[in-house]
Amino acid sequence: MTVYRKWFCNCTGSPRELDYNEVLSEDGGEPVCPRCGATPSSDPKRTITFRDQEDWED
Ligand SMILES: [Zn+2]
Repeated sequence: MTVYRKWFCNCTGSPRELDYNEVLSEDGGEPVCPRCGATPSSDPKRTITFRDQEDWED
């Protein structure tokens, strides 16, 4: 079983899933919201949320 952590930003009023792959080259690979620029460690408006999703297929 693998647990995937999915990150979301609520700055648009509804959760938007953040793409992790775009940020691997800089700043240690944090997900970043392309709209407001928030990250899990820099989230002044507290719009970042996450959800752990279990994958039982492996
Ligand atoms: Zn955002």
